[in-house]
Amino acid sequence: MKSLVRQVVLLVTSVTVFLTGLGVLLWSSNMGIARHIQHGNDFLAPSQLHVAQAQHIVARLAIEVHSDGLSPRPPGMVPYRFHVAGALDELERHLTRVVRLAHAFNYQDALNLPTRAFQHYETARAAFLSLDELTPQQSMRLLAVFEPLRGTLDQLARIYELEERNWHEEQERFTARYFKLAIFGIALLVLVLLPLVFRLAIGLRHNVRRELRTRQELEEANQNLEEMAIYDNLTKLGNRHLFKTRLDQVIGSAKRSDRLFGLMYIDLDNFKRINDSLGHDAGDEVLTVVAARLAGCVRSADTVARLGGDEFTVIITDMDNNGNAATVADKILRQVKRPINVAGNEVVVSASIGITIVPTDGDDATVLMKNADLALYKAKEHGRDNFQFFVEAMNRAAVAQMAMENALRAAVRDEKFALHYQPQVDLYTGKVTYAEALLRWPQGKGKMIPPNEFIPLADANGLLNEIGAWVLTRACRDLARMRRNGAPDLRISINLSPGQFRDPKLVARVQEALRVSALAPPALEIEITESTLIADTDATVKILNALRDLGITVAIDDFGVGYSSLNYLKNLPIDALKIDQSFVRDMEKNETDRSIVDAILYMARSFSLRTVAEGIENKWQLDHLISQRCDEGQGFLFSRPVPADEFSPVEMSRQWSSTLAPGAHSGLRVVE
Ligand code: C2E
Ligand code: MG
Ligand code: MG
Repeated sequence: MKSLVRQVVLLVTSVTVFLTGLGVLLWSSNMGIARHIQHGNDFLAPSQLHVAQAQHIVARLAIEVHSDGLSPRPPGMVPYRFHVAGALDELERHLTRVVRLAHAFNYQDALNLPTRAFQHYETARAAFLSLDELTPQQSMRLLAVFEPLRGTLDQLARIYELEERNWHEEQERFTARYFKLAIFGIALLVLVLLPLVFRLAIGLRHNVRRELRTRQELEEANQNLEEMAIYDNLTKLGNRHLFKTRLDQVIGSAKRSDRLFGLMYIDLDNFKRINDSLGHDAGDEVLTVVAARLAGCVRSADTVARLGGDEFTVIITDMDNNGNAATVADKILRQVKRPINVAGNEVVVSASIGITIVPTDGDDATVLMKNADLALYKAKEHGRDNFQFFVEAMNRAAVAQMAMENALRAAVRDEKFALHYQPQVDLYTGKVTYAEALLRWPQGKGKMIPPNEFIPLADANGLLNEIGAWVLTRACRDLARMRRNGAPDLRISINLSPGQFRDPKLVARVQEALRVSALAPPALEIEITESTLIADTDATVKILNALRDLGITVAIDDFGVGYSSLNYLKNLPIDALKIDQSFVRDMEKNETDRSIVDAILYMARSFSLRTVAEGIENKWQLDHLISQRCDEGQGFLFSRPVPADEFSPVEMSRQWSSTLAPGAHSGLRVVE
């Protein structure tokens, strides 16, 4: 824009300079010619006129004198036809003017002649006035007196004539010169300025066009942006912005009328798996198809929007009752589930839907979105591929969860946790080999929140690593004390959740905990679940190897309920298997469970893995496990998890050593 203005100014300036130059040239040449004409007008013409008049009078006088001389009057009479005085006065006036003009213009050539003419006139006048009458002789003499005046006047007339001719010629030359000059000036101006003007004009035109084009492009871009601002690029559904605007409108009309509106929050189930397995392009295609199906399930007055990722919303307008929303939700579930062909693969996705009703469940956009989200969460909990209506209880649960989150944060900050210990007993010797550290969150009056209830919450809120670090340090410190108190060989076993393996400082944290309590790494065993191994095998294996390189042992916890892959038993860096308590619990009555336990024990032995049975609650279970040559046992039969100061490995070892007499592996040696 700036350059455009500069160009316009430049163009206007050069055009102005051009026109001014032209004007000056024309004006100056005009002035030159005019001055010359003025000279002729002021001097030549009047001089000529007066000379001509003088000549005329002289000629008249000469005729009169001549005719008077031919027929002389009687003596003593003034010739009556001879009006000498008047003619002489007139002649004098003309000659005076001629002399004055010659002086005024300082016209040297003519200056002498007028003066001379005037002198001749004086002589002639004197001669006239001295005569009373004319005789033919006198007439002849008088005419002779007139002769020099006539001659001078003729001479003057010729000079002026010549002068006039010169003047005219000069005038022509003058005009021609000025004309040439003007032409030259104009040509120069044209040569110098016109290309500039031309270039500027072309540049200006170009710039104006460009400016117009830019403006048009900008307008188009703005329009695109506006569209992009309310529509989702991929699916062409409305976006979050459009959805929010519609929701606000719906809330407004719900307040004004008694109509009901349904707000649905839709999330595709396990959509990440499609992205991960088939790639993002396939994922995008699935989203586009689903979007079109959603749009096909509603009326034109309803709104379908994509909030982002695989999250959609639907606003159902003008409902009679909740049933309308349920019908639409049911239709959506069925439509979404139809197979989708993506790059030769047949993909089936399902959706979960949370529904909230406006204004029954609220008349505030944020509240309604939260309600729909809670209902969606419930639908996910119900096994996905279903819809749930929001009910107030969900709110209460959410509020409770929020309160728990806040309390958990405070507990982490103030280290308000406790560790209980449960012994792991060597089934050959009865000796307590390990103390498993189990986390507790004390709530006062002896009430504890068990780890299964708050560890997932801590993981979701990014608090788990901090808690894990506290557990490590505290457990190592407790172990060091237990060792000092008479159990020098006791080892500690600590649980690590999958999330903790994403902590880049995990190995360093473990080392630090051991160092602070002056423990050697073999004092520590870590327990991981099968899900940890599955989550990110490469990264996990790296960490496990690093830990094992230090001398720390690794046990698989809750073995049997996960993927139980023989492959990782063979290849992964593990030392022990802890058989899940669910198999041990029902072993007595359930033959399958018993077979599973037996098979696990057999298999572990062939991989040279240590075996630990969890959840031993009675002697039958213990007996059976001993008979199947299980290495270690853990469970309420030995001890419930207890605080560190109540944990007495020495006493327990003594008790169980005598109970499990040597050779007890016959399965019959358990002492009641
Ligand atoms: P786990 O590692 O399998 O721990 C054994 C669980 O079984 C403990 O539950 C324990 O109290 C319970 N248990 C032990 N013997 C018996 C028995 O004979 N019968 C029955 N019915 N249960 C028995 P708890 O303490 O509630 O721990 C639950 C889970 O929480 C643990 O399972 C472990 O996976 C996790 N956990 C505990 N502490 C921590 C911790 O510090 N960090 C992490 N990441 N997870 C922990
Ligand atoms: Mg465990
Ligand atoms: Mg376990």
